[in-house]
Amino acid sequence: MNEIVENLQNQLKLHTLTEAAKIVPALIQQAESEDWSYRQFLGELLGHEQKRREEKQMEKRLKWVAFPFHKTLEEFDLNEQQSLSRKQFKQLSELNWLDQIFNLILLGPPGVGKTHLAIGLGVEAIQRGYKVAFISMGELIHTLKTEEITRRSQTRLKRIREANLVIIDDLMFMAMDPKEANLFFHLINDLYNSSSIILTSNKGPSDWGELIGDPAITTAILDRIAHRSEIVHLNGDSYRMKHRTSIFGGETVQK
Ligand code: ADP
Ligand code: MG
Repeated sequence: MNEIVENLQNQLKLHTLTEAAKIVPALIQQAESEDWSYRQFLGELLGHEQKRREEKQMEKRLKWVAFPFHKTLEEFDLNEQQSLSRKQFKQLSELNWLDQIFNLILLGPPGVGKTHLAIGLGVEAIQRGYKVAFISMGELIHTLKTEEITRRSQTRLKRIREANLVIIDDLMFMAMDPKEANLFFHLINDLYNSSSIILTSNKGPSDWGELIGDPAITTAILDRIAHRSEIVHLNGDSYRMKHRTSIFGGETVQK
């Protein structure tokens, strides 16, 4: 009997059904003790292989996207963020805007949940099979500037260009030089009409000229980002400040 099972396992492995191979001995036992039909047994075996493949794919994609922290939409507390209605939150979570290639601009002061919301939407998109890339604005500029020089930057940008959703976190207010602004424009232009972008920033589009410098490039970038976009203003007190942990113990909830 053992030999038969081992043979079966080797055959499954040969066809790279490695997850099925792992559980086949236990599953045979369960099937025998619970009197399963052949059909049920095969269904369970192949179903397990499929499920594990999907889980591994998800793990791979999450690792690849390298979010700075892992947060989900379920963990986003709407009671803490009154400026987003339940209906709006639901619409964002359903990701139709991603199919329609809309961009999302998340604005608000530090600590109100912009990055959390962006990551949550990113995780949701990955779960639904979309390709997602996440990069901070600072890293993005560095990566664009070193594309010709390092393989790492080339790979990163290739992934960004191929993604269905590109999250650019924290548009900082560190003035770009003309070369940087130009590189940024070209990337936005490459993504235009093919990928959705989520941009987070603590300053609104009217202040972006200050960052980008050149007015013509600013207009060209804004045009492409704003053409099909939704601006979400997140307000309120910083979640971090409200839920600060005190050195003297416990969580201090200040209001
Ligand atoms: P921002 O990007 O706007 O500066 P973050 O998204 O980094 O803010 O949020 C700061 C911290 O507060 C994170 O740990 C985040 O998970 C948490 N946070 C912010 N808003 C919420 C919310 N509405 N529900 C749950 N956690 C939140
Ligand atoms: Mg942030």
